[in-house]
Amino acid sequence: MKLIDKLENKETIKKALDIEVKNRYINIIGKTKPFSKYILSEIKKIIKLFPKEEKLRNIYNSFSCYQVLTLSERIKLINEFCEFLSAPYVEKPLTEKKPYSNDPNTTDVTYCKGVGPKISQLLNKLKIYTVMDLLNYFPTRHLDYSNRTKIKDIQEGQNVAIFGEIKDVNIHNSPNKAGLTILTISVSDGTGRVKSTWFYKKINRKMQEHYKARYPKGANIILSGVAKYDKFFNGFSIEKQEATVISADFEQKDIIHNARIVPIYPLCENMNAKTLRKAIFNAIENYLDKIQNVLPQYIIEEYELLNKPEAIKQIHFPDSFELLEKAKKTLIFEELFILQLKFLMIREQVRKTVISNKINIQPNGLVDKFVKSLPFKLTEGQNKAFNEILSDLNSTEPMQRLLQGDVGSGKTVVACMMLLAAVENGYQGAIMAPTEILATQHYKNFVEWLTPLGLHVGLFVGKHGAKIRKEMQTNLKNGQTHIAIGTHALIQDAVEFNNLGAVVVDEQHRFGVKQRKELAQKGSTPQLLTMTATPIPRTLALSVHGDLDVTVIDELPKGRKPVITSLISGSTMRNDAYKLIRNEIKKGNRAYIVFPLIEESETLSAKAATKEAEKLQSKIFPDLKIGLVHGKLSAQEKEENMQKFKNGEFDILVSTTVIEVGVDVPEATVMIIENAERFGLSQLHQLRGRVGRSDRQSYCILASDTKSVETKLRLNVMTQTNNGFVIAEKDLQLRGPGEFMGTRQSGLPDLMIADLVNDVEILEMARTCAMKFVKEQNIIDYPMLKTIIDAKLEEMRSFMAAG
Ligand code: ADP
Ligand code: MG
Repeated sequence: MKLIDKLENKETIKKALDIEVKNRYINIIGKTKPFSKYILSEIKKIIKLFPKEEKLRNIYNSFSCYQVLTLSERIKLINEFCEFLSAPYVEKPLTEKKPYSNDPNTTDVTYCKGVGPKISQLLNKLKIYTVMDLLNYFPTRHLDYSNRTKIKDIQEGQNVAIFGEIKDVNIHNSPNKAGLTILTISVSDGTGRVKSTWFYKKINRKMQEHYKARYPKGANIILSGVAKYDKFFNGFSIEKQEATVISADFEQKDIIHNARIVPIYPLCENMNAKTLRKAIFNAIENYLDKIQNVLPQYIIEEYELLNKPEAIKQIHFPDSFELLEKAKKTLIFEELFILQLKFLMIREQVRKTVISNKINIQPNGLVDKFVKSLPFKLTEGQNKAFNEILSDLNSTEPMQRLLQGDVGSGKTVVACMMLLAAVENGYQGAIMAPTEILATQHYKNFVEWLTPLGLHVGLFVGKHGAKIRKEMQTNLKNGQTHIAIGTHALIQDAVEFNNLGAVVVDEQHRFGVKQRKELAQKGSTPQLLTMTATPIPRTLALSVHGDLDVTVIDELPKGRKPVITSLISGSTMRNDAYKLIRNEIKKGNRAYIVFPLIEESETLSAKAATKEAEKLQSKIFPDLKIGLVHGKLSAQEKEENMQKFKNGEFDILVSTTVIEVGVDVPEATVMIIENAERFGLSQLHQLRGRVGRSDRQSYCILASDTKSVETKLRLNVMTQTNNGFVIAEKDLQLRGPGEFMGTRQSGLPDLMIADLVNDVEILEMARTCAMKFVKEQNIIDYPMLKTIIDAKLEEMRSFMAAG
């Protein structure tokens, strides 16, 4: 039997895949939703059947960004999914039952009191397999049923817990609403009376008696909830209530669902809230003393955390809200500490095992000469960044640094300085960029900068014919070429260096781990700098690139005027925008008009952009020259049109979002972004970075006819700041880490409790603490911690090997 045959909707799934393929992967819109949304909802169901299938999860993640995948990526993904579905189905026991032991980490959850085979199956759906998994299943919130109150002291709206006696109980069908049965009890504690009411779908007499018997007259009861004054009753009614009938000799600690701060857990279908709560309560009772601290004792004391067992108890069943906060802080700290320690241990390993060449620079050497030859002065930020790089270079420990800087902050110059430092020391340098346009642009800059210094630069891109390629390769191999610039073409086998000493990877997130490694392997452990123009908030940088030092260039060259950004809607305002374009072009400047990618397909996007370009040409700007760039053009056509725009043959460039990050056209001073609401803030900022690249005043006009106030507020952020880091923070807050990192190679850590948006402070503490730990302690002295870190490093190694 095939796996797909186990699925309820197999026919529909097959059909959907079929139609999508026949329609050339355009993410076709079905009756109610697009293909990708439908598939996602189906995969979710399949995941429930096969909760342990990592592969399926990966497929799910890929489908969740289907809209932004390229055609070939879509094809690959669908093939992968089909392959998964047609794999043979092996009936395997739902869980391999782990044997009973004292250790909650290895004991199957079935052994927990209150968990039988049936409940254990449900727990498995929540990815709970061991007792420890159960203990680590944290509540999302708590209800406060802890406030024991005398009835005479009740205040309106208060959360109360009343300990009293049932005085009266009454059940009847509603006289006003057909189909409703109402149960009311009244409770007294000697200082007054309250009542509480339950509503049920209409039930028969026999069931009514049964329900009534739950609240025997004269029994002791704890009644908790929110007090609301009821004028007909002339007293308080307790709403959103939890009622627990108790015996006279009850012990408060044994009451699970009432008279305390009660945890609320996310559930799955058929899972009863109280059953789950009780199972966790029991697990805490029976296993708490078998849980050990992971964090070293000195850290727990220094940061005023709880011991692990106490933290686990308090996060589920807190004695107070203060302790709940402390428990959260403890568990978040532990999680982030482990994450940071893992990164730092990776670095340590590299540091101990790899030796790089030492590079230093001389006064009046190449770097100095280059800086002096520039028509501008370096900014503080550039100087600072280069100094940090230089101190790395000045050591045999291999550099592990990420250079972040907003678009236009001048990273290329800094990269060039680093490569020159290598050349000054007798090495060759290389810089790899993700596209030909970018590589070529770097090449032109480097040739202009370095030829006067007597240096030779080589360009390695796919479009070169065999003859040029051969020549470039020969020059590189015999050491005549000092600096090689290129795309992926640089890492081909035929490309050999004489003595590669320093490597820069531009837009590093566009390359895989493997590609970066391959370039580095062209030399004997060259120094490696990675760069990104996509500002990443510090929390994410620490969590995704925690094994790297991060340098930030946080200022733009002087004299840059901030791009004036405005938000427009409707045709009148659009006409004004066209007028602005006209004016700018009269002054000798140029303009971009950007259309968003149409979610469903690149073909449609290209068509739409083409149509708009034609319209603009014939109706609005008949006298101007308009060029077009979209994803359906060949690399060469794209390049040609970009080039024509760059050298002024086109006044206006109409494009879908394919214009490259990093493309430099100083004369471009206006950009209109149509349907701006379809872009994320960071993306808008990237686009806006194409203008404002000289000392001329530039404009960015966000056109959107959205009615949503929320969207307008979001877009408005763009009009208020030009700072990419501020925008990235905002974008992260609005969309969350998953979406924010989304289409980039995310590498987001899998976190249980910590939240990368809100737990910034704890993250910083954990990082500092982990750095100190690596310096001052030996992990061998902390066996619990060592086991965990070893497992993580192993995971990491297999990933690196595969990547
Ligand atoms: P990015 O950081 O986005 O890669 P670039 O390195 O492409 O930015 O630099 C953007 C532009 O600014 C280039 O034209 C570059 O020559 C210029 N530039 C770089 N540094 C300075 C500086 N210190 N002063 C003035 N212009 C600079
Ligand atoms: Mg750049």
